[in-house]
Amino acid sequence: MEMRRLAVAIGDQGFGAIIVKGGGIVGQAPSRVIVRHDPTAHGEMEAIRDAGRRLGTNDLNGCVMYTTARPCRMCETAGYSANLARVYYGSEMTDAGPPRLSVYAVSATMGLRSSPRRLTTQRTVSPGLR
Ligand SMILES: [Zn+2]
Repeated sequence: MEMRRLAVAIGDQGFGAIIVKGGGIVGQAPSRVIVRHDPTAHGEMEAIRDAGRRLGTNDLNGCVMYTTARPCRMCETAGYSANLARVYYGSEMTDAGPPRLSVYAVSATMGLRSSPRRLTTQRTVSPGLR
């Protein structure tokens, strides 16, 4: 995939995404996590930002995302918030269906089981700030 190659070419992680609407590309981006020092700059997030800029809206209703790997919870939730119609991922372009609020078991698909970082906000996000 071209965005994956571009990501590697600019010195970032080999991920990228495009967003299509009506047969045309309306958003595309490589991962920019490393080059921008931004942990939220996953290819999917950057593609959503690009599509929003190009289309002049935060509502990507009717748009479909194609991404190099299964989106993480952040990206899937962003896709849900952006109202993406569907997400396809992976080298075989598996249909992930419409974005939903991250209720699937991501640990196995993302290899988080072996990660020392636990995917939880319980320790880092707390209510009650006054
Ligand atoms: Zn992500």
